[in-house]
Amino acid sequence: MSDPVRLMRPYMTFEDVEEDFRAVFSSGQFTRGAHVDAFVKDIKHYTGADHAFLATSATTALWVALKCLGIVAGDEVAVADFSFPATANVVEDLGAIPVFVDVDLGTFNMSPADLAAKITPKTKAVIFVDALGNPTGLHEIQAVCRQHAIPLIEDAACAIGSTERGVRCGSIADITCFSFHPRKLLNTGEGGAITTNRADWADWLRVKLMHGADGMRGLGLDFVDYGYNFRLPELQAIMGRKQLAQLDAIVANRNAVRQAYVEQLAPIGFMPQRIGDDVLHNVQSLVFRVPENLDRDALVHYLKTKEIETTLGTYCQSGTTYFSKKYADVQPRAMQLEATTITVPCYEGVPVTRVCDEIIRFAQSPGRAKTPSNG
Ligand SMILES: *Cc1c(COP(=O)(O)O)cnc(C)c1O
Repeated sequence: MSDPVRLMRPYMTFEDVEEDFRAVFSSGQFTRGAHVDAFVKDIKHYTGADHAFLATSATTALWVALKCLGIVAGDEVAVADFSFPATANVVEDLGAIPVFVDVDLGTFNMSPADLAAKITPKTKAVIFVDALGNPTGLHEIQAVCRQHAIPLIEDAACAIGSTERGVRCGSIADITCFSFHPRKLLNTGEGGAITTNRADWADWLRVKLMHGADGMRGLGLDFVDYGYNFRLPELQAIMGRKQLAQLDAIVANRNAVRQAYVEQLAPIGFMPQRIGDDVLHNVQSLVFRVPENLDRDALVHYLKTKEIETTLGTYCQSGTTYFSKKYADVQPRAMQLEATTITVPCYEGVPVTRVCDEIIRFAQSPGRAKTPSNG
């Protein structure tokens, strides 16, 4: 029996970090040390952003970003609907109203037309999501935001290493949030980051993320405001730096894996996520729309019996039990994508042909096709 095929494998071994980990244990400097400072510098340098801050996750990063923009109860925040629900959750948590914007069936990203239709005088921010790492359409959404003078937050949880029009995610939107969860390309266990080019927001973040302290007063800190602690520890910063140095090679490899899948699956009707001509997609998740006559759930179950791990693309936020009950505003295209997309295993050395052979076997086996609906 061949090895089980997982969705994702880390691009880092213990040996890669062992020496630096040992030095941290010897020094006792587990937080706020040289590795954290260096990781922040690396992120600024890599993304081209003027300012960067670390966080414990993309969720806390997004939450702080909304606080930084002054989002309060009753404000409307337009959110791309096809996303992990953390995007809308942070809006909801502040008492603001997530206004779900439907997505493009090709790119899976926020539709500019639907956004323009949903902007109201109460819209205080827009959250664009790079679905599965794909920034296609980000500049177009930015143009709509500028027209209406609404700040643009990029939920780039999946998108470190991606570019549109030659610009890296992290220096396009007004404020960008990244995730370093193990399902993303840069894995620190848990972790995240915020980047911005706005000096005033950076000042606010610097103080608020340091418990509200700014400089010293006598022997202690000078607490000029109240604040928070969402810091990333030294060991996590070591992991992040090692992977960031490899990220461009990782992205190139994932695009090669994507190409190999597309060559085998497109001929049988699987539609890859559309990538703009001027876009580098980091392929955080490799997702296809299954052919209309195929039962996606049955395919995932079948592959599981072959020890191949797959899953749905991602979620239609407006269709979750919670949001659909509260707002009754389920977006049809995001819902269609939740129901008909599949994430396939993608990592260095993944046995693409083994996975595709099983998918093709399932697709072509008699009796597998869904009963066509009339009309
Ligand atoms: C993973 C993900 C998040 C949450 O990231 P965490 O670091 O786990 O909090 C938020 N938004 C999107 C689009 C994601 O894919």
